Amino acid sequence: MSTQRNHPVYYRSSKDKEPAVYAVKHRNSEVRSASRSGGVFTAISDDFLLHGGVVYGCVLKNNDKAEHCRAETAAERDRMRGSKYIQSDMGDVFPQIRQDLESGRKVLFSGTSCQAAGLKGYLGKDYPNLFCVDIVCHGVPSPAVWREYLKWQSKKGKSEISSVDFRNKRDFGWAEHIETIWLKNGKRVDSKVFKNLFFSHCILRPACYKCPYKDVIHPGDITIADYWGIDVAAPGFNDNRGVSLVFLNNASGRALFEEIADKIECIPTKIEDSMQMSLSEPYPVPKNREKFWSDYRKHNFGYIARRYGGTGPAAASRKWLSNIKKRLIHVLHGDNG
Ligand SMILES: Cc1cc2nc3c(=O)[nH]c(=O)nc-3n(C[C@H](O)[C@H](O)[C@H](O)COP(=O)(O)OP(=O)(O)OC[C@H]3O[C@@H](n4cnc5c(N)ncnc54)[C@H](O)[C@@H]3O)c2cc1C
Ligand code: SF4
Repeated sequence: MSTQRNHPVYYRSSKDKEPAVYAVKHRNSEVRSASRSGGVFTAISDDFLLHGGVVYGCVLKNNDKAEHCRAETAAERDRMRGSKYIQSDMGDVFPQIRQDLESGRKVLFSGTSCQAAGLKGYLGKDYPNLFCVDIVCHGVPSPAVWREYLKWQSKKGKSEISSVDFRNKRDFGWAEHIETIWLKNGKRVDSKVFKNLFFSHCILRPACYKCPYKDVIHPGDITIADYWGIDVAAPGFNDNRGVSLVFLNNASGRALFEEIADKIECIPTKIEDSMQMSLSEPYPVPKNREKFWSDYRKHNFGYIARRYGGTGPAAASRKWLSNIKKRLIHVLHGDNG
């Protein structure tokens, strides 16, 4: 596979080569349930916390804002678990990280590849006490659309929002993509509206359509992702509770991976079995992006949900047709159950 992409010079070097690739599951099933994929972020960050280090990563505030924070305890770090499918606000974490590094603390930074590369660009020099984990990234949706979506759900449910899960793995398994919103009046909503907007690609930030990190070469010492393709890469390893794809990008990444060996189950795999579009090319600007934003400015969220979020009549007829198709297949196979 070619590694000749034109990356920003501050992390790309002629020594870069393809990473070592692993399928990973945390040994603790509760950790995996609380994590997006196989829980490798917890294994890595536990190692830093155990040795007096600090951890930086993305937390969700008031259900409607993703922002980067600093953690010194496992409880603070636990809030970083789980994917928040909106752009995270970096606030003033870069200067905080420089201060921690200058004072000799071990620092773990976790975030999207552009955030990890941005941090390195900001620091302007290498620090041996900095370790970066970057996540393979589809693109980040607009936080403003997420806020409007929550207001719409809250109004429909006649209650304030109590909590949210962008991708509810506990109830629906790792592969399914359903967001759950719990309301203060005790009701819950399982929905695909925000997921459908995300995957329409209309609400991605403009920079994501030209993302330079859609490659197997990444700015982190370790890169983590969902291991889509796991059934080919390591048959029998998938239990639909989450498997992490892990790239060890350099000697620091390989050394840390050895340190966490007792916390994880892992299988070495081939890079070609781990490929997904987020590792090869940016998603193109959708043809209807301009129309989407013009509609978004003109109409209420109910209209946007119907037209772009899969709740409208077109989506209902697609569902109806798919159900008919499934029933016909059952009949043709003589299965009347
Ligand atoms: C916006 C977004 C797009 C993604 N796209 C893909 C994809 O295309 N393919 C794929 O395989 N996986 C994708 N992921 C999932 C990513 O691979 C998982 O975060 C990763 O597998 C970690 O899983 P885990 O079980 O180790 O960790 P968890 O404990 O769930 O780890 C969470 C980690 O994600 C970070 N994080 C969470 N939300 C954000 C955010 N909004 N911005 C920056 N960092 C965040 C936290 O800092 C923490 O390091 C995406 C995640 C996000 C947030
Ligand atoms: S797709 Fe690329 S540019 Fe967009 S948030 Fe992810 S890493 Fe950054």
